Amino acid sequence: SLSDRLTATFKNLRGKGRLSESDVNATVRDIRLALIDADVATPVVREFTGRVRERATGAEVSAALNPAQQVVKIVNEELVSILGGETRQLALAKRPPTVIMLAGLQGSGKTTFAGKLARLLRDQGHFPVLVAADLQRPNAVTQLQVVGDRAKVPVFAPEPGNVGGHDSATDFGEGTRSFGDPVWVAQAGVGQAKVRQYDVVIVDTAGRLAVDENLMQQAADIRAAIQPDEVLFVIDAMIGQAAIETALAFQKSVDFTGVVLSKLDGDARGGAALSVASVTGRPIMYASTGEQVKDIEVFHPDRMASRILDMGDVLTLIEQAEKAFDKQQAAEMARKLMDEEDFTFDDFLQQMAAIKKMGNLKSLLGMMPGMAGMRDQLNALDEREFDRVEAMVQSMTPYERTHPKAINGSRRSRIAGGSGVTVSEVNSLLERFTQAQKMMRQMTRGGGMPGMPGMPG
Ligand code: GDP
Ligand code: MG
Repeated sequence: SLSDRLTATFKNLRGKGRLSESDVNATVRDIRLALIDADVATPVVREFTGRVRERATGAEVSAALNPAQQVVKIVNEELVSILGGETRQLALAKRPPTVIMLAGLQGSGKTTFAGKLARLLRDQGHFPVLVAADLQRPNAVTQLQVVGDRAKVPVFAPEPGNVGGHDSATDFGEGTRSFGDPVWVAQAGVGQAKVRQYDVVIVDTAGRLAVDENLMQQAADIRAAIQPDEVLFVIDAMIGQAAIETALAFQKSVDFTGVVLSKLDGDARGGAALSVASVTGRPIMYASTGEQVKDIEVFHPDRMASRILDMGDVLTLIEQAEKAFDKQQAAEMARKLMDEEDFTFDDFLQQMAAIKKMGNLKSLLGMMPGMAGMRDQLNALDEREFDRVEAMVQSMTPYERTHPKAINGSRRSRIAGGSGVTVSEVNSLLERFTQAQKMMRQMTRGGGMPGMPGMPG
């Protein structure tokens, strides 16, 4: 499956220190094959892999994540984005009833979904009603009535004497009655819902086994007649590449506001989902995941992406790793500071910058046992002082910054000249630096917290 293949791809990246260009190429190639294998449409594959490659090659190297995690993160984000990003809520009409029309090929799962959606809305406190506007197959109306029964939602159907349980309106009231015109049935059903004060009308329509002009025209006519708030295009997640052609045909002639992926409980793992949402630019709103009335899910792009990646744990880990990174970085710095050899002028400068930012912590430090001395040092660090120190450190060569002991007399005059200070100021900086190192050593020995070295003394 798609997720198996992607998992294997990511496994290859494990243990790599950095992503080389050939790593990225190999990974993108594997992802492309996995997507093609999962029946994702070619243009979608191209766009997707292009974006993943660009981001994986780009400057997005994160210190918080290892290369495999980085790639999983990028792939996941691109998946979410291609699946529509945010979860799309049903658009309810300002003045009820909200009219929802279902469209799609025969056997795609419209009638089944109609019951599921009705039940879901009923559970949310709505008063939905189903309208049987599929007059194509002889038992389509009966099927909707069975579905309505299961969902405990009334069905408006045009056939007299066909009792669909509860509140079935087996005729549309006074006068005219048609058994043949789905447009009329849909319209009458919506009218009845208004009269009887249902707040949601779900109109089930007919489908053909393949895209067909008459069918499209009929669906377009129903749409024009009932002016639905939502037209949901129901598509069988198992139909693979044909999904694209079908979706585009429906979009062209009927158009729809959202997509329902049905039979997602089957083998298909997102190939069709990826393609349809991306190619039509319409959001997937629901997933149908079984034959029972309860088998419906509001579609969340982020959850679907994790499902496709089959990496819920890894994704959680990535999130945590990124959150923990700031802490990690601080701990790393502390560890580095304990090791005198590693403590360089670059660290010194970085610490000073941090202290500058932390000006407000001065009073806090004073309250902590053993930290009062540090507060006094902080007080000595004013803005101009920091600028001068920075200028001096910047006048040092990289070698000098990492080997302060090598800064002899001639180097000191050069640094003083370069930063516009006196040699004695350079001397005093070097003294402070040495003191900071000593302080670190003491704190480390005493088991105290590695605090803020680099303070002017
Ligand atoms: P329609 O022609 O578009 O109205 O499709 P139906 O609702 O009649 O569904 C066609 C077949 O697919 C029926 O046998 C349903 O039981 C089955 N079906 C519909 N939705 C799902 C689903 O989400 N999962 C599974 N496994 N079967 C489904
Ligand atoms: Mg049907």
